[in-house]
Amino acid sequence: MPRGSGKGRKERDAGREKEEAEAGAVGSLEAAVREARSRAAPSVRDFRYNKQRARLVSRGSELKEGAECILYWMCRDQRVQDNWAFLYAQRLALKQELPLRVCFCLVPTFLDATIRHYGFMLRGLREVAEECAELDIPFHLLLGCPKDVLPSFVVEHSVGGLVTDFCPLRVPRQWVEEVKERLPEDVPFAQVDAHNIVPCWVTSPKQEYSARTIRAKIHSKLPEFLTEFPPVIRHPHPPPNPPEPIAWDACYSSLQVDHTVTEVAWATPGTAAGLAMLQSFITKRLKSFGSQRNDPNKAALSNLSPWFHFGQVSTQRAILEVQKHRCAYKESVDAFVEEAVVRRELAENFCYYNENYDSVRGAYDWAQSTLKLHAKDKRPFLYELPQLEQATTHDPLWNAAQLQMVQEGKMHGFLRMYWAKKILEWTRSPEEALQFAIYLNDRYELDGMDPNGYVGCLWSICGIHDQGWKERDVFGKIRYMNYAGCKRKFDVDQFESRYTHCK
Ligand SMILES: Cc1cc2nc3c(=O)[nH]c(=O)nc-3n(C[C@H](O)[C@H](O)[C@H](O)COP(=O)(O)OP(=O)(O)OC[C@H]3O[C@@H](n4cnc5c(N)ncnc54)[C@H](O)[C@@H]3O)c2cc1C
Repeated sequence: MPRGSGKGRKERDAGREKEEAEAGAVGSLEAAVREARSRAAPSVRDFRYNKQRARLVSRGSELKEGAECILYWMCRDQRVQDNWAFLYAQRLALKQELPLRVCFCLVPTFLDATIRHYGFMLRGLREVAEECAELDIPFHLLLGCPKDVLPSFVVEHSVGGLVTDFCPLRVPRQWVEEVKERLPEDVPFAQVDAHNIVPCWVTSPKQEYSARTIRAKIHSKLPEFLTEFPPVIRHPHPPPNPPEPIAWDACYSSLQVDHTVTEVAWATPGTAAGLAMLQSFITKRLKSFGSQRNDPNKAALSNLSPWFHFGQVSTQRAILEVQKHRCAYKESVDAFVEEAVVRRELAENFCYYNENYDSVRGAYDWAQSTLKLHAKDKRPFLYELPQLEQATTHDPLWNAAQLQMVQEGKMHGFLRMYWAKKILEWTRSPEEALQFAIYLNDRYELDGMDPNGYVGCLWSICGIHDQGWKERDVFGKIRYMNYAGCKRKFDVDQFESRYTHCK
C-alpha cells in the first residue's frame, strides 16, 4: 500500500484513534479512581477505618511522649495510594498533629533476587518518593538490614509510633521480629495487612486445607473489607527540615546482585504503569479471561502479577475496578476474583501458617507418603540444574516455557504447572525437584519470591491444596500433566515457535 493512499490513511487514522481512546481510557481510570477515593471520604481522618486490618506488634499502645513524627516503614506494599498501612500511619499522625515520614530499608541482597527484581523495585520506589514529596511526607531510603538501620532512625527522628505492612514469608517476618526487639520500649509498633483484601489473620486462624475450605470464609468477609479507599492527603504537618536527597543512580549501581538476569522491557515499573496495565486488561483482555486464560497463545491474562508482587498496585483496587464490568463479563470477572482473591489469599494463608512452605515437609501426609513410595521409581529422563536453566531438555514445549520465563520474566500461568511437574519427573527426588523449581522461579520470574510462587511449586510437585489422583510412576498420587494433554488444550507448535534460543 503506497504511503498516503486513502485506505492506508484510514487505517492509520483508525489506529491512532484507537490509541488515543486507549490513552484516554487510562486517564479516565486514574480520574475515576481519584474521584472514587474522595467520594469514600475527603481524607482518612473522616473515614471509619476497619481496625481489624491492624494489629500491635509491640507492647506500648500509647503514643510516646515528646514524639516528633510517625513513621511508616514501607516494606511489601510499595505504593502511596490504595495502601491501608500508609492510611493507618497518616491517620495516627493526623490525630497527634505530627509530621508523617516514610522509610524503606534497601538490603544489598535478597534471596535469589537479581537486577531484574531490584531494578523494577527501585524505579517503583522512586515514583513513591516523588509522590510522597508532593504530599509533604518525606521519604527516606535507608541502606542496610532493617535491624541495623531502623531502630537508630527511630531514635534520631524521635519517632512516636511505627507502622509497617505485612508479608507472611520467613525473611520479612524475621525483620519485623528483629526490629521489635531493638525498638525503644515506649514506641508502639503496629502492623497492617495492606496486601490482602481480607487480612490474613482475619480470614482464618489456621492453615486452610484447600480453596474449597477458604472460599466461603473469604467471600463472607468481602462486604466488610472490599471497600473504597480514602485518599492519602497532603499532610498538614510537614517536618521541620526536608529529607536528604536520595542518590538513586548511585544506589542502583551499588547493588551487589546478579546483573546477568536483565530487566524486562514489557513491564514498566511503578504504580502509574501498573494502573495502565490494569486498564488495558479491562478494556482488551478481560472479556476473554474466563474462556481463554489457559491458552498460552492468547492474550487473556491480566499480566498484573509483577505490580501485585511489589505492592505497586493494590489487588483490592484491581478487584474494585474489574468488578464494575460484571454485567458485561460475568464469567471473566468471577474467574478473576477466584484467582486474584481466593487463590492468592489461600497462598498467603499457607505461607503464614506453615513454616515449611518451601519444603516437601510442608506437604500433607498423604502426599509425602506417596512421593516417598515412588522416590526410587526410574525417571524417564534425568537433568541437572544447568540443563534445565539453559532450556536444553528433550521437550520443546518445556524449553519454550523456560525461555519465556528467562527472556520475559513471566511464564504463562498454565505452563507454570506443566513446567514444575516435569521438573518432578526429570530429577532425582521430589526434594531436588522442589529446590530446582523454586530456584528457577525466584531467579527469573519478575513476580518470584512470592507466596504464590511457593504454593504454585508445592501444588505442582507436592499436591498442596489438591487431591490425590490415579497412582502412577514417579508422581504417585500427585496430579500428572503431559505433552499430549497440552496438545489437546492449545496449539503447542505455535507456542514453541515463539521462543527459541538467542543466537
Ligand atoms: C509452579 C508455579 C509457580 C508460580 N510462581 C508464581 C510466582 O512466583 N509469583 C506469582 O505471583 N504467582 C506465581 N504462580 C501463580 C500464577 O501462575 C501467577 O500468579 C500468574 O500466572 C501471574 O500472571 P497474571 O498476573 O497475568 O495472572 P492472572 O491469571 O491474570 O491472575 C491475576 C492474579 O491472580 C493471582 N493468581 C493467579 N493464579 C494464581 C494461582 N494459581 N495461585 C495464586 N494466585 C494466583 C495472581 O496474583 C495474579 O496476578 C505460580 C504458579 C505455579 C503453578
